[in-house]
Amino acid sequence: MTNLIASRFAPSPTGSLHLGNLRTALYAWLYARHRGGRFVLRIEDTDRERSDDAKVAELIDDLRWLGIDWDGGPGRDDGTGPYRQTERADRHAAAFARLEASGHAYACYCTERELEAERQLALRQKRAPRYSGRCAALDEAGRARLIAEGRQPSLRFRMPRGARLQWVDLVRGPQSFRADDLGDFVIRRADGTASFLSSNAIDDAEMGITLVLRGEDHVANTPRQRALIEALGLTPPDYGHLPLLIGPNNAPLSKRDGAMSVRGLRDRGYLPAAVANLLLRLGHSGAADGYHAVADMPGQFHVTALGHAPAHVDDHQLNYWQHEALARTPDEALIPWVTGRTPVGREADTVAAVRKNVLLIADAQTWCDRLYGELPAPDEAAAAIMAAPGLAYWDALLALESADYDRLIEAAKATGAKGKVLFQPLRLALTGTLEGPELRPVLALLAPTTLRARLAAARALTAARQQGH
Ligand code: GLU
Ligand code: ZN
Repeated sequence: MTNLIASRFAPSPTGSLHLGNLRTALYAWLYARHRGGRFVLRIEDTDRERSDDAKVAELIDDLRWLGIDWDGGPGRDDGTGPYRQTERADRHAAAFARLEASGHAYACYCTERELEAERQLALRQKRAPRYSGRCAALDEAGRARLIAEGRQPSLRFRMPRGARLQWVDLVRGPQSFRADDLGDFVIRRADGTASFLSSNAIDDAEMGITLVLRGEDHVANTPRQRALIEALGLTPPDYGHLPLLIGPNNAPLSKRDGAMSVRGLRDRGYLPAAVANLLLRLGHSGAADGYHAVADMPGQFHVTALGHAPAHVDDHQLNYWQHEALARTPDEALIPWVTGRTPVGREADTVAAVRKNVLLIADAQTWCDRLYGELPAPDEAAAAIMAAPGLAYWDALLALESADYDRLIEAAKATGAKGKVLFQPLRLALTGTLEGPELRPVLALLAPTTLRARLAAARALTAARQQGH
């Protein structure tokens, strides 16, 4: 199993997923599915104060919504679990013991205050702040003195002195860091918990992950993590660091960006396939043009086609894909968009009548309000159009016993109205807008009393304007 290709998504459930996180998840999943490998979902919940079960559930729900499934992860076991990082503490401890035994790790007794003073000094001297390594060389007497002071040590990884740490990043190309610039880093905090750097790397290695795709904010972690994995005698995965996504307001997307959170997009009615088609193109140029169903996307994903320029999330593109996805969505799926704002039993007909004029839930609601609520008072331009055919037009329509579309149009024509003057006043009177769906199905949805009231209102408006002139 461990020689199989495997990728993973390793979110920290400390906030809502945004499009950038979701893109990372999608790409990692597409990679695994394209290559016939495993896909693992690991919940990095070690920040106990900010992680809770509700956030984990939300995150799982968002991934499933997009169409992402996993071989190993919550609810699914591929033998590499547990999949919650807090449940892997014994494995981390075992790894720390091995590193200590092999001399790759040492206890550091420095206090937060001492470390801060060291950082300040480095900044004043215009050096990159990094741990000096002073506890690496403690002798027995020095150590005994610090222990006698009651200090709780953290455990640090001993970076290979003088080494150059290199890898070929799948997105950014060859990378090279000097170990001495990075300094020895904490793998176990003084309180006994594993640090992000160590737990994340140990888990990847022990879960047989062969490719880590993640945000470029992690690039400088990679040389440290690769060194740590090698010190454990394990093989580091390949790494690809994706550029950050830039939001519509030209700032990098963040967890606080509500509108671009997956939740925010879902709540507005964006369809999973719309979001997935957008993400497939954000910094990835391997997909054939045109719409792809999520299930067909693995064949469209090529890790060699990942770009490293920051990618912009563009509302227009998102809406374009929404339009494409919507066109492939059956009416039934859109019924929730009108339910509660439509007379019971009329939901399916309402969807059928308005769906071509709707991109998001708010649009559907606007149409429900137009059909079943009060129309706003017409503005001057609309009033002028409605008054144009004269009283005879409205009288002819109001004289009809029962009015379906054909009868209305026939009666209006008989008054001599034609072209725009035939259709536009009726459309405005009945829907309050010149843009909208075909009138025939709309008419079928209007209650007879509503229809009469709207025709009567148009007549009254025409009469008032004639008197005013
Ligand atoms: N939990 C980390 C994060 O959400 C994981 C980073 C990684 O993918 O390695 O940023
Ligand atoms: Zn120290």
